Amino acid sequence: MEEAKKKSAGDLRREALRYDQKNGYDRLSAGDEAAMRTYCEAYKKFLDDSKTEREAVVSAVALAEARGFRPFTRGKALNAGDKVYRVNRGKALMLAVIGAEPLSAGVNLCAAHIDSPRLDLKQKPLYEDTELAFFKTHYYGGLRKYQWVTIPLELHGIIVLKDGSQITVALGAGAGDPLFTIDDLLPHLGTEQSKKPLSEAIPGESLNVLVGSRPFKDDEGSERVKLAILDLLNEKYGIVEEDFISAELCAVPAFRACDIGFDRSLIGSYGHDDRVCAYASLAALLDCSPARTAVCILADKEEIGSEGVSGMKSAAFDTFMSDLCETQHTPLKVCYEHSLCMSADVTAAYDPNFPDVFEKRNSALVNYGLGLCKYTGARGKSGASDASAELVAKIRRILDDADVVWQMAELGKVDAGGGGTVAVYMAERDIDTLDAGVPVLSMHAPFETVSKLDCYMTYKGMKAVYEAKEEK
Ligand SMILES: [Zn+2]
Repeated sequence: MEEAKKKSAGDLRREALRYDQKNGYDRLSAGDEAAMRTYCEAYKKFLDDSKTEREAVVSAVALAEARGFRPFTRGKALNAGDKVYRVNRGKALMLAVIGAEPLSAGVNLCAAHIDSPRLDLKQKPLYEDTELAFFKTHYYGGLRKYQWVTIPLELHGIIVLKDGSQITVALGAGAGDPLFTIDDLLPHLGTEQSKKPLSEAIPGESLNVLVGSRPFKDDEGSERVKLAILDLLNEKYGIVEEDFISAELCAVPAFRACDIGFDRSLIGSYGHDDRVCAYASLAALLDCSPARTAVCILADKEEIGSEGVSGMKSAAFDTFMSDLCETQHTPLKVCYEHSLCMSADVTAAYDPNFPDVFEKRNSALVNYGLGLCKYTGARGKSGASDASAELVAKIRRILDDADVVWQMAELGKVDAGGGGTVAVYMAERDIDTLDAGVPVLSMHAPFETVSKLDCYMTYKGMKAVYEAKEEK
């Protein structure tokens, strides 16, 4: 056996001074590896059950109730160890585990979003052209339109009738269900289209979903295919054409979550952004035993600017927090100023197929763990909350103490573009906030890819934050 080589002075100084990270798999314990496998199987199920924010709320409430969470009633006393939740209009969810520390000491918070890019149906969607029936759509969130043609689509959402009764639609999710699709031009006739820039080749108004072709039988009237579709919808859901006016229906990719790669190290799915961080934040809350009160918010509308009554800008979150605070006669602002928030949202993973848009030294790498972003924004950090050095140091401490594999992440090159998260809206509430999430390949595509190790380390990181003690 060879004698161990003595380290040179340079090696010793290198070890002491340099910040060289290893691949997460070189740092993964056997215990973590087994837990990662179990965690990722549960996450894939959550993805398949949760193709819209409404479905994500239903899935999350079921998981929380199974672990002892109960709806929070305003004015009801709360004790340490109590687990409560509140649903905001079926589209956002807030949960809390009450800690032994008072709320005046602040809470540990994770905020993620459960809406994903998709194609919403317009309010008068159904039409017929040349004996084919289609739905008109208006895309939701920042998507690359050319990626949404010629893929199988499902139809999800709700229809609210004038009397207030609701019909839930999840067509394509069940075995044997029909699917839908959007046509594209054949290459033989695509000469002119192929000359256009990617962003113009598929105009928004051409994202029309094909929904049928068979005419109403024994009829001489016009638009017989549309009539036949209306007849089927009436039979299945009891609706008439006017009911689309008060519907929220969307076409989402019909892909199921699956392992990617010979080594099964990755997960491919629709909607990782941001259900991958939402699930991590939720699962960590269900598993944590916090000293300070731990709060998780799964928000809607992030992909269109966090606007609206169910978005992160909505006072619904402040109302939930102040209802919690009132049980201890604590002013909400006192709670906020001592709180700590992880804005749990995905970041871009460095993609070696597109090196030009990344700055490699500061990009998140697949399998290097939870990605922390000190700032997001675009062109000169515009729109970023830019977390303080003090906060980043604190999070470094918390994650290292819990053996979390993590890395620093920046979205891409300074002038390449940019993006934002809910971080800025939490920071504006006087809550110290840092962005942290899973690096994603093909973000906002109908089929996105993440690493299992990064998914699990995000869960582990969020759990460490919930359980972090107040530093005096
Ligand atoms: Zn996004």
